[in-house]
Amino acid sequence: MTPYADLHCHSTFSDGTSTPTEIVEMAKNLGFKAVTLTDHDTTLGLPELFAAAEINGLNAISGIEFSCHLDKESVHVLAYNFDPSHPAIVELEKKHFERRLDRSQKMQAKLKTLGIDVDLTKTQAKGVIGRPHIAALLIEKGIVKDIKEAFTRFLGEGKAGYVEAFTITLDETLSVIKQAGGVSILAHPHLLSESSQFNRLIKYPFDGVECFYGNFTMQQNDRYLKKAKEKNLLITGGSDFHGLRKPLVRYGSSFVTEESFLKLKSQHN
Ligand code: AMP
Ligand code: ZN
Ligand code: FE
Ligand code: FE
Repeated sequence: MTPYADLHCHSTFSDGTSTPTEIVEMAKNLGFKAVTLTDHDTTLGLPELFAAAEINGLNAISGIEFSCHLDKESVHVLAYNFDPSHPAIVELEKKHFERRLDRSQKMQAKLKTLGIDVDLTKTQAKGVIGRPHIAALLIEKGIVKDIKEAFTRFLGEGKAGYVEAFTITLDETLSVIKQAGGVSILAHPHLLSESSQFNRLIKYPFDGVECFYGNFTMQQNDRYLKKAKEKNLLITGGSDFHGLRKPLVRYGSSFVTEESFLKLKSQHN
């Protein structure tokens, strides 16, 4: 299988540490022929990605990773090949931007009650803010030694600085992607908290499944590949590269072939 594109990665516009230009350069160095960027809830990095892809002679498609929920379970949905300026996308991004800002301010207030002052204006986020940015501030202040400790002591679910995320429903997210002409992909089913959730989620109107993911093995991917083929869904794959924030996951560790990429690119809603 010749790698053609890594369809899942994060840049400095969300919680990654590489710029879109650096990501394009990595793709080029690996011999990939196409690129996308799937920042959390934002498309702000796409203009830079498209410009760098053009300079480097790579094919580029739009991408994003939406956070949403089904009942109480958090679900990530990847979208590709949509119009980033479509009003429904712009509106959904705005909702996410506001809820992330509100949540981070609430986490800041909670940390203050513990005697910890974090200055949110000092975060490196060029697009949206998330818990990894607050973790970086805690590391910078010397309160924790690394991101792991920041989550286990303060930012993980139920910890002293944690504030629940109120995201958007899965139904609304899928509907917006469709309105904007995009394809929707169930992201990393490998990470669902209970494996039975996959059987429930796959009944929703996704266009495809992210079968190849990060450092997971072909054996671990097989269950998702089988189901995607059975239901005639698109098959995608990507690393979920975050740069230094996820040092064990390198760009290109999972990918799609040319055939899967062209199938995805030719599918519009
Ligand atoms: P948020 O979207 O603000 O809720 O932050 C979620 C992000 O935090 C995820 O995309 C992960 O990259 C990161 N994250 C979640 N849990 C941990 C953890 N235990 N250690 C390090 N990073 C984490
Ligand atoms: Zn992330
Ligand atoms: Fe994700
Ligand atoms: Fe991701």
